[in-house]
Amino acid sequence: MTTDPDTTLMTLRAEVCALHAELLRWGLVAWTSGNVSARVPGRDLMVIKPSGLSYDDLTPESMIVTDLHGTVVDGSHKPSSDTAAHAYVYRNMPEVGGVVHTHSPYATAWSAVGQPIPCAITAMGDEFGDDIPVGPFALIGDHSIGEGIVATLKGHRSPAVLMRQHGVFTIGKDAKAAVKAAVMCEDVARTVHLARQLGPVTRLEADAIDRLYDRYQNVYGQQKPSTDGVTA
Ligand SMILES: [Zn+2]
Repeated sequence: MTTDPDTTLMTLRAEVCALHAELLRWGLVAWTSGNVSARVPGRDLMVIKPSGLSYDDLTPESMIVTDLHGTVVDGSHKPSSDTAAHAYVYRNMPEVGGVVHTHSPYATAWSAVGQPIPCAITAMGDEFGDDIPVGPFALIGDHSIGEGIVATLKGHRSPAVLMRQHGVFTIGKDAKAAVKAAVMCEDVARTVHLARQLGPVTRLEADAIDRLYDRYQNVYGQQKPSTDGVTA
């Protein structure tokens, strides 16, 4: 069974549009900031939010299709001003199918002080498998943000990076996974921040992080049943 490329694009436009509502629902964005994109499977294209449109005005039809250098292929608006960063990630991380960017407040506060979020709670071990790292400071406008994201996340378990004094970029196998990572990043950024108001925060032992990460990724993945005695 083959899927008509136009049908795939229509479906992706609808998915990417709907995922923007999740950014609002979880309190990750203000005004028109933030954006979601998805790679078009099997083609050197992506679907991304238009620039400057109110979240209320986003429709599947208003989503922009660009090539992986950010050139518009289909769409009647300008693409997001972060398009170059998303495109760079897709060009350099072939396993990535979705990218999200937000200035969600707690995570962005950590980025403002340039501190990684320590892997101090089990939810972080599950989802991020490590500290959430800080990427370099980079100005918008060329591929330097994308370079910083890829340099930080390539080979790292965390699907989220705190770009210094800017905000959060997350990646995933698809756009929904990248949105989930953005939601979870803000959630743990808030919790670990609150914890630090109460006292010193201790990173989990590396072995515990490994076990949490392996179990969680296997529960949600497909392969190998747990044989190491870790109970679900
Ligand atoms: Zn930004």
